[in-house]
Amino acid sequence: MSGISYRILEIDLSSRQSKVIEYGEETLRKYFGGSGLGSSILLDRFEPSLDPFHPQNPLIFMTGLLTGIPVPCGCRISICTQSPLRIWGEANAGGYWGPELKFTGFDGLIISGQAKEPSYLWVTPEGVEIRKAGALWGKGTFETTGKVLAETDPHARVAAIGPAGENLSFMAAVMTGGPEARVMARSGPGAVMGSKNLKAVAVKGDRKPAIVDLKILQEATKEFLPNLKFVEGLSRFGTASVIESKEAAGVLPIKNFTQFHWDKASRIGGPALVAGFLEKHYGCFSCPIRCGKEVKGKEGPYAGVVGHGPEYETLSAFGSLILNDDLNSLIHLNFLCNDLGLDSMSAGITAAFAIEANLRGYLREKDGLDLQWGNARAVGDLLEKIARRQGIGAILADGVEKASQKLGKETEAFALHSKGLEVSLSNPTPTVSLALSWATSNRGACHLEGFSHQVEGGVPFAEAGYPKGVDGISGEGKGRLTARMQDYMAVFNALGLCKFLLFARLSHDTMCRWIKGLAGWDLTGENLMEVGERIYNIKRAYNVLLGVDAEKDRVAPRILENLRPGKPISEGRKLFFDMRRDYYQARGWDANGIPKKEKLISLRLEKAAKKIGLG
Ligand code: SF4
Repeated sequence: MSGISYRILEIDLSSRQSKVIEYGEETLRKYFGGSGLGSSILLDRFEPSLDPFHPQNPLIFMTGLLTGIPVPCGCRISICTQSPLRIWGEANAGGYWGPELKFTGFDGLIISGQAKEPSYLWVTPEGVEIRKAGALWGKGTFETTGKVLAETDPHARVAAIGPAGENLSFMAAVMTGGPEARVMARSGPGAVMGSKNLKAVAVKGDRKPAIVDLKILQEATKEFLPNLKFVEGLSRFGTASVIESKEAAGVLPIKNFTQFHWDKASRIGGPALVAGFLEKHYGCFSCPIRCGKEVKGKEGPYAGVVGHGPEYETLSAFGSLILNDDLNSLIHLNFLCNDLGLDSMSAGITAAFAIEANLRGYLREKDGLDLQWGNARAVGDLLEKIARRQGIGAILADGVEKASQKLGKETEAFALHSKGLEVSLSNPTPTVSLALSWATSNRGACHLEGFSHQVEGGVPFAEAGYPKGVDGISGEGKGRLTARMQDYMAVFNALGLCKFLLFARLSHDTMCRWIKGLAGWDLTGENLMEVGERIYNIKRAYNVLLGVDAEKDRVAPRILENLRPGKPISEGRKLFFDMRRDYYQARGWDANGIPKKEKLISLRLEKAAKKIGLG
């Protein structure tokens, strides 16, 4: 008996029926859980006729193998679906929603169909109730969460969409925790949820997972805890702690990636945030790092609201990227994104794109907004319009790729995305593998799917084969580095562990002992990496079915320029394509980025090989 229930609850919103699906240990050993297990289910159910907003496009919430287990940072939940970007869609959040789902006795939820009217789900160990949510439609996620808690159980956990999801913005996120926002943000899962007329999912359970050998698990944890000394900065200042060091290294993105240094960075960094706005430090389920910073809004519509403080990515997106050094406004814009249910990274990149398009004369419809560098008030108004697809918001609601198609080819150069997903907030100039990681990430330009730039930034990841940092300027060896780190990150997603454990030098040995303690399985680091590689390849196979190949593994011209600043763009282009060629070779894919049959077979992905036409 272990803490794994091997049960998934499937809910069809059209027929209002639900059923329990049971799966076996072999499947779990192959994919672990989280977006690993989710990818296997989504590939099995793939039909060419399914577009992202087709009622039968499944929306999957899946806990990781270690989610809800008392190991450090065992808290993550993955959401998987076909993204509105028409690629593999996936987002991931910490907090308490994932563990609470596991406590219902279900490892995950598969939601298909479309409710006839706005609805929310109330999931408990007894099953699911589909309840009316007409009165919640149009409301922000903060109010929605409060009302659902009042109607269900004050100790339940709620995942909700805001107006952005209802209006099918490709940047729509699924928020958990109300103002304490832990967000499933990237690749637009909130829009798929909105297309199903599903406003929220509340979960509450009391089935704490059983553990095969608690002693093994606790001993591994005890030996690991001294490593927390490596993440003291995260504990003190949160992810905002790196704003100033990133600026010094030329990594902080400034003025839509056109500048490399900004003398105002310290005004929006972790020490300033903590000194001026901190209410308390807090953490996700079972987290000893506690990087969360609860802050209080001091001005504007969110004055007095206490909630999750802006992370590094949000501070960059609405700070350095648009030349805004006012922390008050940054807290406001962070709350606004969370309440509207918007991915703050995509929204920030889109706002910077809109400002640049405006100043360069490509944005004819201004809708009364004075879109200038540093004008945070106009950006706040823009976010409201984006979430509701009003006026100028209708042009920008689906992110920079779609907006650029509407505004003209000249804007492509500064529409910063890969496969339609806006880039994360780091400049790849001194860490060139980041551009490759963005281009080849299954869900689009994501930094967390690879994290290879951290190795280039000097962080050793011995477990992926890099006992010390590597040079960040050269393209040498970056194909292999990127592939290895992507595989490694896939393991974290599947286990439901927070990736910040990497900075605390989490070892394969500790991970394997946690799994042994939970499930009784004997695994090695090599086994873990094989699972990661399998997961990465099955997601790629899903993307191949949607037409992804080398043509889609690209970055915007401005990113190519930034790879070799001050030099002709041809140098950045050559560097990028050389790295990509090496990457395909390291992966065992062909020159067009399609996994080879022998690679898929070696990973026991025979069904995936067949699905993509490899016999
Ligand atoms: S380190 Fe931060 S994000 Fe990760 S689990 Fe802890 S509180 Fe959550």
